[in-house]
Amino acid sequence: MSKLNIVLFGPPGAGKGTQSEFLIKQYDLVHLSTGDLLRAEIKAETELGLAARELMDQGELVADHIVIGMIRNKMEAFNDAAGFIFDGFPRTEAQAKALDAMLNAKSEPIVAMLSLEVPDEELVKRLLERGKSSGRVDDQDEVTARKRISVYAKETAPLKEYYKAQGKYKAIDGVGSIADITGRLTKALG
Ligand code: ADP
Repeated sequence: MSKLNIVLFGPPGAGKGTQSEFLIKQYDLVHLSTGDLLRAEIKAETELGLAARELMDQGELVADHIVIGMIRNKMEAFNDAAGFIFDGFPRTEAQAKALDAMLNAKSEPIVAMLSLEVPDEELVKRLLERGKSSGRVDDQDEVTARKRISVYAKETAPLKEYYKAQGKYKAIDGVGSIADITGRLTKALG
């Protein structure tokens, strides 16, 4: 059976993590979040974590080869999965190309890129709210929140065109209740 490999796309604070929790249960998928993987490296105080920490705290992107390597390792470890949800990855065109190369080599391409669309002001509000309980350094102040949103607009949002060219881009309204958005995602997956 073909695998349900999905890119869950959208700016910081769009709700990718929250919606991933639902999708992995609903479709029996493995959740691959580069943000979560990087935070685990920081917590374990690995060399990789030490190198990534400062960039993440400042809202900058971590180097492509680092995140691509982490994704490759995890995909190998979960070779039998029914599919993957890629969350927070790819974030650059180089990452998208590397992901396509890895998946095409196994004839298990991305089937859809679901893009959660949320206005910037709502994102800032959500990130600062999350910062009160998450303890994440990058959620603590408005300057860093806006920095991440601008990095997204410049480096990451152009990937919509990349997936549009493959006929895989689907825009999802990311404003509403968690259940509303879950419903929209399910419908988009048909
Ligand atoms: P958010 O959804 O709030 O953007 P993430 O947990 O996805 O948060 O990412 C947190 C930080 O981790 C990013 O700001 C960036 O520094 C780093 N990061 C995560 N994924 C990637 C990636 N694919 N490429 C480069 N850096 C990444």
